[in-house]
Amino acid sequence: VFLTDGRYTEQSAAEVPDLARITYAPSAFVETVAEVASERGVARLAVEAADLSLDGHRRLAEGLEGIELVPTTGVVEAVRMHKSAAEIDAIRRAQRVAEQAVTETLGAWTGGTELDLALALEWAIRTGGAEAVSFEVIVAAGANAALPHARPGPRPVPGDGCVLVDLGARVDGYCSDMTRTWLRGAPDPLPEAHAAVVRALEAGCAAIRPGVTGADVDRAAREVLEAEGFGEAFVHSTGHGVGLDIHEEPRLARTSEATLEEGMVVTVEPGVYLPGVGGIRVEDLVVVTSSGIENLTTLPRGPGWPA
Ligand code: ZN
Ligand code: ZN
Repeated sequence: VFLTDGRYTEQSAAEVPDLARITYAPSAFVETVAEVASERGVARLAVEAADLSLDGHRRLAEGLEGIELVPTTGVVEAVRMHKSAAEIDAIRRAQRVAEQAVTETLGAWTGGTELDLALALEWAIRTGGAEAVSFEVIVAAGANAALPHARPGPRPVPGDGCVLVDLGARVDGYCSDMTRTWLRGAPDPLPEAHAAVVRALEAGCAAIRPGVTGADVDRAAREVLEAEGFGEAFVHSTGHGVGLDIHEEPRLARTSEATLEEGMVVTVEPGVYLPGVGGIRVEDLVVVTSSGIENLTTLPRGPGWPA
């Protein structure tokens, strides 16, 4: 049974035609759930614990007397981890739009601020065939790049040092995700850090195949940066699933027990962040295949400006 308020009555007729559809009156959600549950003899009702507020749970529990509410996590997310060929195709097209936007925009770039470049990239993504950006474009120059989720501001680009760009396009509802960092007159140890991050990315990609866990991939990338003396500067996890949301399961993190399987789409994105100096992150988007990966990212990883 698909319950909706009046805003989605018509849309749901097109999108979920196979389900019984019920439009509930304003403020009558809990009452309608109670009616549907009682008509169908429901004794136990699963709720998505990660998305239901304490207050929402209290109202449901009060309005559904005699029905057991069973908290669940990851039921829908587990299904979404496995992408169909059509879903992978949408993600591939989104990645193509994002890469085209980077190549065109940076090839024609004559200088400006982080904010200017972020806007130019978003314009190129949206006019290049995407319905939206998959998250707000990150452009971070110099010391601002030491913040893993920096916001673009007034710093000059390219300026001296590093420029980090993290962006994605959304096509047919599906996201892409990619990061590149370019260097110009960058102080030590940024050039060395860039080379180490690319090696960590390669090691992470090489570790991916069906049967390994998210933790295995994280370790493969992290060990490279630790061996190069940058372990402490890699302050986040190695990657994440991508799909309808920019961050999905499975996570490629130290403690991730998720097992990778064919058809999953994940990022590999090691980084090195040096406060006051700058930051390096290089991120590819890959599909898990029967024997390894298909890399959807084709833009060069190197530190040279992609003109
Ligand atoms: Zn990213
Ligand atoms: Zn990412």
